[in-house]
Amino acid sequence: MKMSIQLKTLDQIKVMRRAGLLVGQTLELLKSSIKAGMRTDALDAIAAANIKRGGGRSNFDGYHGFKGTICVSLNDEIVHGIPGNRIIEDGDIVSIDCGAIVEGWHGDAAFSTIIGPARALDQKLLAVCEESMWRGIAAGHVGAHLSDIGHAVEQCIKSQGIFGILKEYGGHGIGTEMHQEPHVLNFGKRGFGPELTPGLALAIEPMITLGTHRTKLLKDGWTVVSADKSRGAHFEHTYALLPDGKPFVLTAIDGGKEHLGKLGVEISELIQ
Ligand code: MG
Ligand code: MG
Repeated sequence: MKMSIQLKTLDQIKVMRRAGLLVGQTLELLKSSIKAGMRTDALDAIAAANIKRGGGRSNFDGYHGFKGTICVSLNDEIVHGIPGNRIIEDGDIVSIDCGAIVEGWHGDAAFSTIIGPARALDQKLLAVCEESMWRGIAAGHVGAHLSDIGHAVEQCIKSQGIFGILKEYGGHGIGTEMHQEPHVLNFGKRGFGPELTPGLALAIEPMITLGTHRTKLLKDGWTVVSADKSRGAHFEHTYALLPDGKPFVLTAIDGGKEHLGKLGVEISELIQ
């Protein structure tokens, strides 16, 4: 099967940056607002207001019938939790996924955080998940093959200990729709799939647990939990490869400068 991948012009990526920055700023706002005692739908309201204020619109709300601006997933819930009356407690791992559309172009990003005093294992889980995302982005450079990304994500995770890496869920192309081809696995061998070229935009999103990689879907039809109730983490950024051959992380406030810089990758200066 031939994959059809949407390549973006510099001008289109500049609009995607506006969507991405709005997502990034919304996630920063959520990170600073979240505390024990809050309902998960209070976070949703903060996100909805911020996206509206920024001139965007939610791409999650109404997506295949999803009700909410963000996904809020707690503890053994890994992704796609529906905001509601659940109260966030000390010690919870909270994973928040957010997306926005600006002028028809999409951004998508996520983070996990621990509320109050953190267990060492949970801290490690989150650190490994986030690091693997940055390694994946760094590996997804111009000239690399698609599977190099998943390979880098998996190698990073495996080098840090034993974690379950979700298999049924992964990253994706993104542009005029939130989910486009290609699907981006979080595991695999190097050297397979299409060669990565300027104009490509991908969301990289490892999802890992302290136990099994196997998942279950809750009765609400959305929430993905680990099959063994182990706690999970999810980090995601949308990045693009620019005409100068360099990456730019559209949903990171600094474009990925700090984290990619630590991995020896320079970000593009073609956009801000
Ligand atoms: Mg997402
Ligand atoms: Mg995504």
